[in-house]
Amino acid sequence: MPRPDHGQPRIIALANQKGGVGKTTSAINLAAALAADRRVLLIDLDPQGNASTGLGIARHERGAGTYAALIGDKPLAELTRPTAIPNLTLLPADTDLAGAEVELAGIDNRERRLADTLAAAGDVLNGQDYIFIDCPPSLGLLTLNALVAAQSVLVPLQCEFFALEGVSQITRTVERVARGLNAGLTLDGIVLTMYDRRNNLSELVAADVRAFFGAKVFDTVIPRNIRISEAPSHGMPVLLYDFRSPGAQAYLALAAEFLKRERARKRTAA
Ligand code: ADP
Ligand code: MG
Repeated sequence: MPRPDHGQPRIIALANQKGGVGKTTSAINLAAALAADRRVLLIDLDPQGNASTGLGIARHERGAGTYAALIGDKPLAELTRPTAIPNLTLLPADTDLAGAEVELAGIDNRERRLADTLAAAGDVLNGQDYIFIDCPPSLGLLTLNALVAAQSVLVPLQCEFFALEGVSQITRTVERVARGLNAGLTLDGIVLTMYDRRNNLSELVAADVRAFFGAKVFDTVIPRNIRISEAPSHGMPVLLYDFRSPGAQAYLALAAEFLKRERARKRTAA
């Protein structure tokens, strides 16, 4: 049951300038797992629209979505859609989103459009506990809009060679945004994805990332699991597609650890 005691939703961007590291997969499946007892809005900010497709909204069904929210003046309430998961709402990526990077470059307040849209939608958002923003694989204006709108950044990291080099770019960007455009922003977590127990490299990379980032790294590791990669073609989170799969169980564990960290954060903030 959704908690009646929520105030403002916490806004979390899933970002990493590398593609194929598990941003969208983690956005969909963490959001779906949390929706068991929280209200969650997922914003698809990637023109590829994989989060929308993965939640069962086909390309031709998308209509107006994130682009309209960023550039247009449609209120958010008219753009979000329910999904097959109760308590999980989606702001889909419309096809026009592909042009948004270029269009944003020419308009006022270009890094704050998403933040302003969310601020203007206060009444709609007050019902939500979490807002997850699935970012595109770049550090352009769309991702910048997410980092300016968010309070927290979650970085999915694929357990592969050069993972640490890649992550330093997003951590530097987060620091820069926190110094200038959005003082409250923190990098709250790194999630190791596509972990392969049979591959020594996965273990080495995980050890390196933990040595460097310490407690920022979630204990829960997402294994490489075929069910995770099959689920999007059925338009559903892996939790619906195959609840018993190691992938679904890993995202449930991640959601539990996420909530535990949230409780700890709120205690420290109080
Ligand atoms: P990103 O959003 O960072 O580009 P995705 O979440 O789309 O990355 O993942 C890239 C590809 O890898 C997708 O085809 C996805 O289904 C697959 N994938 C992601 N996580 C896993 C996993 N844990 N096991 C197997 N395949 C995965
Ligand atoms: Mg993606």
